[in-house]
Amino acid sequence: MLIQRAPLSSSGPTQTPLFGGETAEPAPAPFRFEISARSNRNRARCGCFHTPHGVVTTPRFMPVGTLATVKGVSAAQLADTGAQMVLANTYHLHLQPGEAVVAEAGGLHRFMGWTGPLLTDSGGFQVFSLGGINKIDDQGVVFRSPRDGARIELTPERAMEIQMALGADVAMAFDQCPPYPASEADVAAACRRTHGWLERCISRHSRPDQALFGIVQGGCFPHLRAESARVVASMNLPGIAVGGVSVGEPVEEMHRIVRQVGPLLPEDKPHYLMGVGSLREMAIAVAEGFDLFDCVLPTRLGRHGTALVNGERWNLRNARFRHDHTPLDPSCACPACRHHSRAYLHHLIRTEELLGRTLLSLHNLTHLIRFTTAMGRAIADGSFAEDFAPWEANSAAAHTW
Ligand SMILES: [Zn+2]
Repeated sequence: MLIQRAPLSSSGPTQTPLFGGETAEPAPAPFRFEISARSNRNRARCGCFHTPHGVVTTPRFMPVGTLATVKGVSAAQLADTGAQMVLANTYHLHLQPGEAVVAEAGGLHRFMGWTGPLLTDSGGFQVFSLGGINKIDDQGVVFRSPRDGARIELTPERAMEIQMALGADVAMAFDQCPPYPASEADVAAACRRTHGWLERCISRHSRPDQALFGIVQGGCFPHLRAESARVVASMNLPGIAVGGVSVGEPVEEMHRIVRQVGPLLPEDKPHYLMGVGSLREMAIAVAEGFDLFDCVLPTRLGRHGTALVNGERWNLRNARFRHDHTPLDPSCACPACRHHSRAYLHHLIRTEELLGRTLLSLHNLTHLIRFTTAMGRAIADGSFAEDFAPWEANSAAAHTW
């Protein structure tokens, strides 16, 4: 049953302005990417990606809300971290509660109470990484639901229909992400399939208020990456992503892919490096022209009692925090750092209080988002290469932001 509601602009539980002072005013065109400044020493750029639900200032880290929730964090708390675009997961939402329920609610924004931009992945990565596949061919993938064993077929067309029903601002193409390591023949086959599927995604996708991003694959093979970048770029979509990184390859290999593929992407489109969210890797990628990042790590670490501080991982269970009544990170404005001490966070984590997990998740998200904001500021004022290049050598450049 459809529930009549007031327009989204007045019904959201939070009307907190999006970070950077931008508001969700209707844009002249639904999707525009404006580059406002560039580094003259590398490919870094900062800009604005306009969506129907607001502006994403880039470079920007995007929190992951797999099941239409960033675990343990309310929409209002999420807005306070500086989050702009938030991810949700097509595969998981298709299984539970099902896209029909989300559509009934008026779409994903209303269902989860997030008034800002949203992006859904295509489900491809989960289908290929979570196992249980019965059949994969050029048509699509057949797998068993991990919930009830039901047979589910996911094709490029189906992935588009589900994402159009969910209604995020950005939908991702259905792709085949090969595991690492994989043979050259297997990666080449996955690339060919991904490119064929992309054409079918484009044919089926028909929501003008939703942007479709293509995904570059190619594993660790430079000629396959180059070919994939060429094919996906030729589709002239509103954005382009690089997938198949952070899938278990050595970090040097990821750097090599980022440095090779970054310069091959169309200049005037937002570049999204999927699944990457560590400080050094984001700094290296921004220097190669990447704009958007996501990673489950900040909230996963937070739930397990780990805080990201000064480029390190601190385990708050550690007894050294028991009598430490100083803020977690004095330079951080998140609720954990502003209102509480390390000793209190240690106590919450040791007693497995839910609040401890929430506070550390908020801190870790704020930390990564703040880092990408600082990179954008540095690009705008011309200091990016000087201030963030040290990250490439993995030195402690924490003072720069
Ligand atoms: Zn903090």
